[in-house]
Amino acid sequence: MKKVLIILLLLLTSNIVSAVSEITLNDVKRPQSAILFIVDGFGSSYYYPELAPIALDGSALLKARAQNLTFGTRIIYVKTPHPVTGIAHSVIVTGYSDANEEIVGYPDATIYDVTRQHGFVNLAVMETGDFSNMRQEQDIILFAENNSLDKPGISIQAKSSPPGMYELMYDWKMKMPSYLNNISGRERYRAYNKWSIDAANAVANAMIKDHPSQKFLLTVNVGEIDSGGHNLGDDDYVRLIEDLDRDFYSIYKTAQDNDIALFLTADHGMSFATKNARRGGHSSDKYSSKLESLRIPLVMLSPNAVSGVVSGEYGQEDIAPTLLSVLDLPSHLQYADGKAINIKKYASIFVKADSQYTVSLWNDGRKISESSDSELVFAGLPLNTSYTLKATGARGTYEEHVSLDSDKQVSFRKPDGGIGNRQMFAIILVLIVIIGGMIVIKRIKD
Ligand SMILES: [Zn+2]
Repeated sequence: MKKVLIILLLLLTSNIVSAVSEITLNDVKRPQSAILFIVDGFGSSYYYPELAPIALDGSALLKARAQNLTFGTRIIYVKTPHPVTGIAHSVIVTGYSDANEEIVGYPDATIYDVTRQHGFVNLAVMETGDFSNMRQEQDIILFAENNSLDKPGISIQAKSSPPGMYELMYDWKMKMPSYLNNISGRERYRAYNKWSIDAANAVANAMIKDHPSQKFLLTVNVGEIDSGGHNLGDDDYVRLIEDLDRDFYSIYKTAQDNDIALFLTADHGMSFATKNARRGGHSSDKYSSKLESLRIPLVMLSPNAVSGVVSGEYGQEDIAPTLLSVLDLPSHLQYADGKAINIKKYASIFVKADSQYTVSLWNDGRKISESSDSELVFAGLPLNTSYTLKATGARGTYEEHVSLDSDKQVSFRKPDGGIGNRQMFAIILVLIVIIGGMIVIKRIKD
């Protein structure tokens, strides 16, 4: 009886769960997975060729030579709205300029909610920015419990690890002491950073090799550029960026060789009072309005992105919608006010529809494609072209015209957007079956 009940439940609820049809046209190359690489406290002012860092007293500061960190598509002017670690990480993953750590935990608030709904596994290796709600968004995360270079405490938190991933992360947790053995000063900061880069690279390579068809979003955080800025001063801060430039290459190569989208960014930058200041800062009143604290890098590599330098002013909240656009995922971020930066070589149309409709895509009176689902993605359409979408069902045909200057979202759902008659019928049926089943089970027990 129980088995019948479970099967009935599964059959009925499967009607309610939305399904996605992905239709890729014109044979475009898309990334299957992505790496979001966040460097804590990494100001673009300190290495972008177009920018120059200035101290609070007006003196010019040193700049890092960091060629490996200027690949692919580079956005020159990107600012964080709040140069504070937890808040800025929340802005990055929600696309919302007024986000905080609590909002990250809300349903459908983050990029991780969207990737999960589209069959991705969310993995993370984080030294900072790994607050509780951020960890909760991950299927598995290797993270630093504290930000202590003296006694680092590394932990793993897992919900649904891909086979073998827990063991791999455990190996990397155990490797941390060997990275720091008998090393002090700036080299210790660098070694700590290198550990998370190497661990993340191992995670990416294990996914590619052992789970080649599994899409993934890997979030990486490197913590000690920030600590170096706070504790060592402006000269070592710049040298640590140059160290990062060398150590970063391995993960860049992994992304490039395997057509994985790579996003390099930061939560916030860093400011110094004077040249040769021994301590820097970013969030206190003294520093928080300085461009050196606000400007962050945004450098991206993806097989479907146009490479080159992009000027114009952007915000940290634009990162999440841009990442989703590059992955051809709809920007269904509940709170986002950021907009996708147009870096994709083509446009995609994301359609929501009642699944009783047949949705077809037309260009110049010719039908290009058609499908039926509650969510459809038509990817790979040439930019600056026009298309017509038709949704045909028992109640007639609805049409929408779209001009593709960028990705577009179209809805053929009823305006209430709530639960349709069919879904309501299914829910009532499920409830009847559950209650009926409980009565039957109770009778059997009695
Ligand atoms: Zn930070």
